[in-house]
Amino acid sequence: PQPEAARPGLLGRLMGRAVPQTVVRRTLDDEMLEQLEELLIAADMGVDTALRVTANMAEGRMGRRLSSDEIKQLLATEIARIMEPVARPMPLFPKRPQVVLVVGVNGSGKTTTIGKLASQFRAAGKSVVIAAGDTFRAAAVEQLQVWGDRAGVPVLTAPEGSDPASLAFDAMTRAQEDGADLLLIDTAGRLQNRQDLMEELAKIVRVIRKKDETAPHNTLLVLDATTGQNALSQVDIFRKIADVSGLVMTKLDGTAKGGVLVALADRFGLPIHAIGVGEQIDDLAPFDPEEFAAALTG
Ligand code: GDP
Repeated sequence: PQPEAARPGLLGRLMGRAVPQTVVRRTLDDEMLEQLEELLIAADMGVDTALRVTANMAEGRMGRRLSSDEIKQLLATEIARIMEPVARPMPLFPKRPQVVLVVGVNGSGKTTTIGKLASQFRAAGKSVVIAAGDTFRAAAVEQLQVWGDRAGVPVLTAPEGSDPASLAFDAMTRAQEDGADLLLIDTAGRLQNRQDLMEELAKIVRVIRKKDETAPHNTLLVLDATTGQNALSQVDIFRKIADVSGLVMTKLDGTAKGGVLVALADRFGLPIHAIGVGEQIDDLAPFDPEEFAAALTG
């Protein structure tokens, strides 16, 4: 592990320096609460959530002398409490295929996440079909084919610029004929023209419902955790244009200020099905609220 001084975490900053080996105590007073709020806001938690977290941790403890370990524990407990209800894996349905629509802005990690999901489901013994529904981005289609090859999963494509709904329909037909367990459908992420995107997604949903009126069974919104508070507005937008049923948070490796996950959980309560922790095929993990809270407050 790195020496403490090299990584002044949230607590290090609260205590004025990297948390030393010897126990440092501070009185829980208004000044400390304000500092904590600022640190949590700087970690992308958003004002409302930061205030709630600090208020809850302070309740009944004002004026007490607390060690840095105790402060960390109290904070982590409050954060985990918010995160626990949303830490839920993607529900599986006894449907063939179970249709998973994947939405999100370009660059959020949709393609990569679909590749990782396909690989996980394959490893669990399920048969998977991918539809490269972002027909306007040749690069996305190529990338999906690479992921599909790696995961050993067929990727259905259509010529550049063709109708994604007709591809989705064909993919649905193929997945039904093959008796596939899952159909993962990539979609476009051009938010510049929201109306177009909304119509495109609505049309995809309409045509797959011709084949199974209960589809899509999941609509996953992929969000890049490094975009901080932007993730909140993306949820707002996508909930207006699609029936988002759960989130995948990508790029939680590296230096992402994951505090936005707490704000998301607090504001929307949408389940977080998985987190992306790298660019490789196995870098998709279940969301663990306690581990997350410990890392955020470390
Ligand atoms: P899309 O445009 O939404 O399909 O996004 P891509 O799947 O192409 O991902 C955009 C970039 O983010 C690529 O360079 C990916 O390798 C990278 N990426 C995706 N998920 C993760 C993740 O969990 N961690 C890291 N570090 N990079 C990721």
